[in-house]
Amino acid sequence: MRRRPSRLLCAVAPIALALVAALAGCGDRAALEPTPKGCPTCGDPGTVITDGAGYVEYTTGDAPLIISAPHGGLLAPPSLPDRSCTGCVTVTDENTEALARRVAEQFLARTGRHVYLVINRLKRAKFDPNRDLLEATGGNAALASSWTTYHFFLEDARYRVTYAATRGLLLDLHGHGHTILRLELGYLLSAADLRLSDQALGASGALAHSSIARLSLQNAGNTPPVALLRGPASLGALLANNGFPSVPSPGDPAPGVGDEYFTGGYITQRHGSASGGTVDAVQIEAFRVGARDTPENLDRYATALVSSALEYLRVHYGWVPTASVGATDRARATRGNVPGIPATPVVRAMRPAA
Ligand SMILES: [Zn+2]
Repeated sequence: MRRRPSRLLCAVAPIALALVAALAGCGDRAALEPTPKGCPTCGDPGTVITDGAGYVEYTTGDAPLIISAPHGGLLAPPSLPDRSCTGCVTVTDENTEALARRVAEQFLARTGRHVYLVINRLKRAKFDPNRDLLEATGGNAALASSWTTYHFFLEDARYRVTYAATRGLLLDLHGHGHTILRLELGYLLSAADLRLSDQALGASGALAHSSIARLSLQNAGNTPPVALLRGPASLGALLANNGFPSVPSPGDPAPGVGDEYFTGGYITQRHGSASGGTVDAVQIEAFRVGARDTPENLDRYATALVSSALEYLRVHYGWVPTASVGATDRARATRGNVPGIPATPVVRAMRPAA
């Protein structure tokens, strides 16, 4: 009779393997097999853990959707100096932490499933995990472990998504102050690339280096790569249909010459599929008035994100929510120190999921 792996092994193995992968710079979780099989409760969906300082926070999930909010934090401990690096951007993306939490709550209410949620709780003036280590911390060594932990949490989420569902999607949530009130979807493709015709863009091979490279090679609906960006079932199309004009999308296929546009940052580059792996990523930059300015608009925008993500996952990943096998384990969503994580930072359970 085959013994089922212990609960401890189930909890440790994905984290340890993800750590090994992170240290090795490995982009493909599937290459980490063998994995512990027959362990439906490994994920402890809904568990909230943080770095020792409580600066970054991670909620484990049981859906192939990862939400990241690196620029919406509100904490500004006086003990931490402001970042002072040359060219550092220190403006907070207002209300994007609240937005990310709303997305997670609405997703759970609609599907019974938890997204993986990774949040920076510090103000951007103190810490910016969407940058490399030096720029993220402004050279403040006290925050190095928080930076490592933020990306470790994303690595762990990617690993768990790959283990549980094979493939998945990361949405990195931001806010912009640009003139045109539209969502800017960043796939690591330049505005000039997006201004190419569908035929020229497809022929350029640019999608193979985008943050949805994996999806462009294989998707459930056999959607052509360029259509993933601005076809009728693109994320931009779905968000526009849900009330939030977006670029690229069928009605707005590319930023115009001179338009301000964010193509995607460090998180999208590192944790999407541009350099391998089975999790794709999209950076979503939202305007403020009408999307991020009031609780009502945050709710409305979160609803659009959840609806669009669910449709995107269904059409392109073939995933629809079913009853979660880990649901009965949410009640025990607290545990002590998690083995397999470096001594610094200490990762610990802070509180059960609400
Ligand atoms: Zn941002």
